[in-house]
Amino acid sequence: MDDAIGVDIGGGSIRASLFDANGLELKSNHSKTPEHLDNLSFLTVLIDTIAPLVTTCKGIGIGSPGPLNNESGVLLTSANIKGIKNVPIKSTLEKEFSLPVFYENDANCAALGEAIFGKYKSYESQLILTLGTGIGGGFVTNGKLYSGFLGNGIEIGHTTAVIGGALCGCGVKGCVESYFSTKGFINRYYEKTNTLLTNAEEFFNLVRSGDKIAKEVLEFGTITLAHAVRNAVHLLNPEAVVFVGGITKSYDLFGGILEKEIRTTIFTVLNDRLQIGLGGNISGTLGAASLVFAKEKS
Ligand SMILES: [Zn+2]
Repeated sequence: MDDAIGVDIGGGSIRASLFDANGLELKSNHSKTPEHLDNLSFLTVLIDTIAPLVTTCKGIGIGSPGPLNNESGVLLTSANIKGIKNVPIKSTLEKEFSLPVFYENDANCAALGEAIFGKYKSYESQLILTLGTGIGGGFVTNGKLYSGFLGNGIEIGHTTAVIGGALCGCGVKGCVESYFSTKGFINRYYEKTNTLLTNAEEFFNLVRSGDKIAKEVLEFGTITLAHAVRNAVHLLNPEAVVFVGGITKSYDLFGGILEKEIRTTIFTVLNDRLQIGLGGNISGTLGAASLVFAKEKS
């Protein structure tokens, strides 16, 4: 069988689906996860969610937020499920189901799913940026994910946009994520107005209604993102740069400036070849299942 199971361990729930080799969902299952769980009960919920889907498939791909160790297949801690620590996900599931298990952070899974099944799948290499609460990144070349050391590669959100700039959640000043992300927009807008917004939609509504400060915050953030992409394009030479994630819903407000700034600052030889655009809606579970489909190619 060419099918694969993808599992998305997200905030408050575990989703699992069985996919055929074309990415078509054949079956799915999900479970809610309470805020507090110990390792053993968490693993029991995980196994019970996957079990109804297990067939003679190729393997199981798992994605979750980090921090994790993708080589040993251990979830180190979770912001969403308090009480679990150093969970041996890969070894437990391999033993339980006698199938190969692959485990990566969810940004890497999203990138791989987009590269294998998304709009830009026919290109040789894709740099995918997830624009949301923060900025996630992934780089896929010839259908293979470059995940870096223990899965910590392509953290574009934490590359420096402004030396000595605004403080980022990672503890360092001036990351691009401090200027272009839901958190970044909210914090920069608060600094200038003392008004605390609660989500990206509120921020973009202000931009749409012509709020001068919101427009300034978005424009500056867009330029910092463009230069983070420029740096990455010069380092990696991807054939396609693809934007995904919640913030891309408002692409009409910043996409033009973003693409223009990227295109006018990168080498002509790269610009002539580069595709830039929005990705499709690849689910977290298909992204995770892509770990199995990608490994097949090696
Ligand atoms: Zn940072």
